[in-house]
Amino acid sequence: MNKTKIAIAITAVLCMSCSENRTNPFFEESKLPYGAVEFDKIQPSDYLPAFEEGFRQFKADIDAVAACPDAPTFKNTIEALESGGDLLTRVSSVFFNLMETDADDLMKETEEKVIPMQTEADSYLYMNDVIFKRIKQLYDNKDNSGLTTEQVKVLEKYYRRFVNGGALLDATAKARFVEIQNRLGELRVKFANNNLDEANSYVLNVTDIKRLAGLPQDQLEAAAASARDKGLEGWAFNIQKPCWIPFLQYCQDRSLREQMYKAYYSRGNNNNQFDNKAIVKEMLTLRLEMAKMLGYETFADYKLVDRMAKTPQAAYDLLMEIWQYAVPQARLERDEMQKIIDAEGGKFKLEAWDWWYYAEKLRKQKYDLDESQLMPYFSLDNVRKGSFMVAETLFGIKFKKVENLPVYNPTVETWECLDADGSHLAYFYTDCFVRPTKRQGAWMTNFTDEYKYGSRSQRPTIVNVCNFSLPTDTLPCLLSIDDARTVFHEFGHALHGMLTQCHYPAVSGTATPNDFVEMCSQIMEHWAIDPSILKQYAFHYKTGEPIPDALIEKMQNAGHFNTGFETVELVGAALLDMEYHMLKDYSGFDDQKFEDEISAKLGMIPEIEYRYRGTFFNHIFNNDYCAGYYSYLWAEVLDCDAFQCFQEEGLLNKETGRRYRQNILEKGGSDDLMELYRRFRGSDPKTEAMLRNRGLIK
Ligand SMILES: [Zn+2]
Repeated sequence: MNKTKIAIAITAVLCMSCSENRTNPFFEESKLPYGAVEFDKIQPSDYLPAFEEGFRQFKADIDAVAACPDAPTFKNTIEALESGGDLLTRVSSVFFNLMETDADDLMKETEEKVIPMQTEADSYLYMNDVIFKRIKQLYDNKDNSGLTTEQVKVLEKYYRRFVNGGALLDATAKARFVEIQNRLGELRVKFANNNLDEANSYVLNVTDIKRLAGLPQDQLEAAAASARDKGLEGWAFNIQKPCWIPFLQYCQDRSLREQMYKAYYSRGNNNNQFDNKAIVKEMLTLRLEMAKMLGYETFADYKLVDRMAKTPQAAYDLLMEIWQYAVPQARLERDEMQKIIDAEGGKFKLEAWDWWYYAEKLRKQKYDLDESQLMPYFSLDNVRKGSFMVAETLFGIKFKKVENLPVYNPTVETWECLDADGSHLAYFYTDCFVRPTKRQGAWMTNFTDEYKYGSRSQRPTIVNVCNFSLPTDTLPCLLSIDDARTVFHEFGHALHGMLTQCHYPAVSGTATPNDFVEMCSQIMEHWAIDPSILKQYAFHYKTGEPIPDALIEKMQNAGHFNTGFETVELVGAALLDMEYHMLKDYSGFDDQKFEDEISAKLGMIPEIEYRYRGTFFNHIFNNDYCAGYYSYLWAEVLDCDAFQCFQEEGLLNKETGRRYRQNILEKGGSDDLMELYRRFRGSDPKTEAMLRNRGLIK
């Protein structure tokens, strides 16, 4: 990129925006060490002007690449694109992160204006024929141009983004391609709205309290309040999970359970105004047409080409391997529950709507675990110390608290991650506590990226966001075991971001496919709950006593409860997703018939339903997990197999840690992912460890 040109543009803007002697902080590079964000200088009114100028500069940077008179080289084309739009990157990575945690009205207004600008800027790049020609020329020569493996990966990524946007199509085909994309966008919204409207319109209204025997008091109170809101007598129940699950777990009345169960699983499939069957068929048909236009045989082939799995068959084979073990385990669980029914004199066969109810009885008998006994051992402080201890020991790094770094909220804490030789690796922010402006869940993101090429280099700034309750004067923040795992999970993503040693942002850190990226987070959860590690961090917040063995044993035991069921419904949904998208013709497609055939082929047990059926499978018809729902299980196989390597060589073995750091954490997506994995593990990933971890094999 032409540095002088950018510098001139920035100076001009600075002058324009200097009112009241104040400069928009996004218009210049941060003066803080390592480019950390100057949160103390940013005001909500800074975002829009920064975006407007950012998009202008971004387009100018693209124009400059397109206008380059020299033959395309990696440097004058790909590196130039990677380094273009600095201002836009700066404002985007702050703005979109804070939208999730601290949005005010002005920011929300700004977002509405920015989204169309973003779409326009994307097309400005990906519809640019001149730039595509340059990229294609490089791509066609990539094998004899002396590029590094990482450069080839970056080039391929750019090439595929253009091609998947229709860059290789002629004008007529391109028009059809755009038409398909627009229609898919419309259908996706319709699908989601139907789901939402149908779920919201369903009410189970019960007026006889006797029929609600077994339900906990808090559920009854919520249902009574919901009935009052709707102007109904008695109690009203809906099919949202917080109401639906306890209902199936506790309501003694079988026929009511059956009604609730069927209402949930027939969403989008009731031949009413919310029916999604025609939408599913049209979406599948259009997706296949699009994939074929791009040269793929099926939509699944198109989606998997840049994933770690690479082919639909590889993903499918892995799912089937797990499936073989999951179904027999689920049958055992079913038989165990049937025994309870028989012993109670039930005289009926367990049906799908009975599963939660009897599973809950079984859980109480065999696996009862009182969370309130555990929580005193999991103060946030201790859990964080535990996660730091594991990473420091394995990877030879150090976390040092930093007190004077500006933050965007007073509860945010900051750390510096240092390498063994004391050099700076990254800043790490933790934003742990719930507040009204924060979206639910937990996640990791970057405030600044890592890169080093040409004269440019930067270390990353990473944040972990969670939603725990604030400590009080008398009580520290105490976590459930799931929350403790979440801390380790997000910290795993953070390590992937902090330890990265790539050259280009396009492949740096967590910029890797879904079926790989979750390995690095999920693997950390194994340390969170390993008995020997628990003894090193799970101390009672008052007495300082380590967690007792008896509690650890209960925790481990509870981990194997109902795993046949959970695996079957999860793997079943992943297989269904893959089957949907591996078809080569949808002309006679009938949703119900198709699912019945798949169930027969797979030997699905009738007492369990796929976690999601087509007509309400939001992940694949309203999100980008289409032909990708398998990713969760793929990554789980990787994390279990990788953790087994640590179990074999020592949970805190520095040499294993070094291999993991150098081959996985430092490499991002800069090399073939399976090859990276083999370099760490010495062999291909195997499913055994995952099956054992789920209690499916001994
Ligand atoms: Zn994750």
